Amino acid sequence: MILATDPSLAIIRIGVLSLQGGVEEHLQMLRALPAVEVRTFTRPSELAGLDAVILPGGESTAIGKLAVENGLMDALRSRIIEGMPVWGTCAGMILLAREIRNDKRRHLAVMDITVDRNGYGAQLESFVSKIPIDGIEGGPFPLVFIRAPRILVVGPGVRVMASLNGEPIACVQDAMVATAFHPELSGDTRFHRWFVELARTSNRG
Ligand code: GLN
Repeated sequence: MILATDPSLAIIRIGVLSLQGGVEEHLQMLRALPAVEVRTFTRPSELAGLDAVILPGGESTAIGKLAVENGLMDALRSRIIEGMPVWGTCAGMILLAREIRNDKRRHLAVMDITVDRNGYGAQLESFVSKIPIDGIEGGPFPLVFIRAPRILVVGPGVRVMASLNGEPIACVQDAMVATAFHPELSGDTRFHRWFVELARTSNRG
């Protein structure tokens, strides 16, 4: 177990994109972890001070539009292509996807996945389940789906971390992570802890 006081654990700066959506829940999860400096960001100038970013759930169209208006989309894409770790939950995953089957829009389009917006149904059809996730120790992880996108296709460089009924719901490509569900709403910090470790390892080069 790593303690917050462990001097060998360098502080890592994680930014949560805070244009719209479920920002606060991610901030709370990150604040519970050792040696993490938690920030929010909305502008390109704020990216320079970050080691890794989280793109929250919400409405991908709204987040995408505001990111373009703030001049953030291109700056964020460049940092991700350069290797900055990123994790998109739900709408955040839609922002990362290279292909969106049922939408003309493309956002960051950096991750080799094809998604279907609202593929798991409307708000009322959101559901909770529990499954093991590859790399996350300590037993099955609680899943919260809210008008979740479906992952239809993953490219050859993408590793599926978890599937539900035979369909991928969490995957990773290099330092890019996508989850169709919302670990930030699960009350379980293990996924955030795992992402912070991935970010730490990537930043060490
Ligand atoms: N349905 C939303 C979208 O298309 C995503 C839902 C969510 O993030 N909870 O952007």
